[in-house]
Amino acid sequence: MNNISLAQFDIDTHTAIHKELNRQETGLEMIPSENFVSPAVLEALGSVLTNKYAEGYPGKRYYGGCEHVDTIEQLAIDRAKQLFGAEHVNVQPLSGAPANIAAYFAVLKPGDTVLGMDLSHGGHLTHGHPVTHMTQVFHFERYKTDANGQIDLENLRKMAHEHKPKLILVGYSAYSREIAYSKIQDIANEVGAMTMADIAHIAGLIAGGEMNNPVPIFDIVTTTTHKTLRGPRGGMIMCKKEFAKQIDRAVFPGLQGGPHENNIAAKAVAFKEALEPEFKQYAKQIKANTKILEEAFQAKKYDLCFGGTDNHLLLIDVTSKSLTGKDAEEALDKASITVNKNMIPDDTRSPFNPSGIRLGTPALTTRGMKEKEMGIIADLIDRAITHHTEEATLKEIKEDVMALTKNFPLYTDQTKNV
Ligand SMILES: *Cc1c(COP(=O)(O)O)cnc(C)c1O
Repeated sequence: MNNISLAQFDIDTHTAIHKELNRQETGLEMIPSENFVSPAVLEALGSVLTNKYAEGYPGKRYYGGCEHVDTIEQLAIDRAKQLFGAEHVNVQPLSGAPANIAAYFAVLKPGDTVLGMDLSHGGHLTHGHPVTHMTQVFHFERYKTDANGQIDLENLRKMAHEHKPKLILVGYSAYSREIAYSKIQDIANEVGAMTMADIAHIAGLIAGGEMNNPVPIFDIVTTTTHKTLRGPRGGMIMCKKEFAKQIDRAVFPGLQGGPHENNIAAKAVAFKEALEPEFKQYAKQIKANTKILEEAFQAKKYDLCFGGTDNHLLLIDVTSKSLTGKDAEEALDKASITVNKNMIPDDTRSPFNPSGIRLGTPALTTRGMKEKEMGIIADLIDRAITHHTEEATLKEIKEDVMALTKNFPLYTDQTKNV
């Protein structure tokens, strides 16, 4: 076996990884779906577990030599149960999208109707966007938010009675408000629908006790593990006991082959971290930091979609500042502030050049940034948007960003050498 280091063996890949590390360390990462994992999570992810095939589930595998991966997968399952109060957990989904696909196939038949949120109001591609394969199999109907930015429950009820969905779907990628799970469960009960919450974005805030938890209420809850939950890139499905067999079969053999046990080990580590008291503090700080940004942008007369935020993100309509979401994303990128352009509710512009930007605080909060830094960052963002055509100003802001991030080191030198 070739036992030499990456730097010695493949300088091209090594160099690109280190350039990416440098980009992460010197910029302000404000894409709300991104985060920085701990060195312990990285270590598990880069472990020899990647060598092992383990099709099946703990205690029931199709391969020999699974005694240690069984221990690891069971740890991940038990910790997730504890974290969310789940009756059953499957930690094998490779990411959020396959977790959703498996969940659909577990409980739906081709042609069944799913009632999910309109994409421009914050829903996710996997909730029935025409470009996804799922729309060829299932029928998606869409509800929306109202003028106050709340989910329009009366309209949702009306649509549920009209379309008789098999599944009512909540949980979003660009929605900044709390969700009333019991009220939606009541509507589902009226029409005999199952309920599914996709908490991909807010799982960490739920685990930290800062947002409503749908797990004790809904039939099925899917999530990613790499957003606010701050684990490795991956997915997970939680459900009521009665759906356990269907869910497990839908993940394997229904959709996937061998589970990625290195990734599952990293999930187990991240869940242990999320069970620590510090994680509650982290979740609280994410929300506090986002509130500061909300207040600062309101004071600067920005249009905040949904009227503000109850979670880790803001969706901002920038068109009143005489630019598009794409212009804003590009200007901020030049200043080393990373956000993403995003559709706003009922956007009249195209997804490639929409009216809004979406930004959030989970990654910056992991770095230790607090209220004071959020005030500074809101000023930097406003300056970049106001002067988005002035290259010299954007360069000045980039220098301010570098000075700020220097005070919040991300990884120790030891981690960097791994
Ligand atoms: C991010 C996200 C997903 C997809 O997760 P991937 O890991 O990118 O496949 C699914 N649903 C929602 C609501 C998300 O925000």
